[in-house]
Amino acid sequence: MSDTPDLDGLKERLTALQYHVTQEAGTERAFSGEYWDHHEDGTYRCIVCGAELFGSGTKFDSGTGWPSFYEALDPARVTLKEDRSHGMVRTEVECAGCGAHLGHLFPDGPRPTGMRYCMNSASLDFVGATDEQD
Ligand SMILES: [Zn+2]
Repeated sequence: MSDTPDLDGLKERLTALQYHVTQEAGTERAFSGEYWDHHEDGTYRCIVCGAELFGSGTKFDSGTGWPSFYEALDPARVTLKEDRSHGMVRTEVECAGCGAHLGHLFPDGPRPTGMRYCMNSASLDFVGATDEQD
């Protein structure tokens, strides 16, 4: 795959936790991440490739200790996969741009979608609405 990021470069660019979560499908400890209790207006991007994945307008307090969203900015930007690890059947969420592991999707979110994208802060890079440059 030609668009797979260089993994050696990633190890230098990402923190050990960011690398573990995005490349080895890890999970940060609940309430430990940067964004679970983060309420600014802006956009959450993939920490690996920079794709815009979630907007602050769809973020909600799930009480889980992970940043949670009821929908992606564009469903085409995330890839959903069945995950049968840890003795459970869950839906894994990956970045469609680079394949980075982001978290899991659960069907117990709020209106209007009823879905809960349970993400890892370590997979995301927040860009505030007022810092947007283009
Ligand atoms: Zn990505």
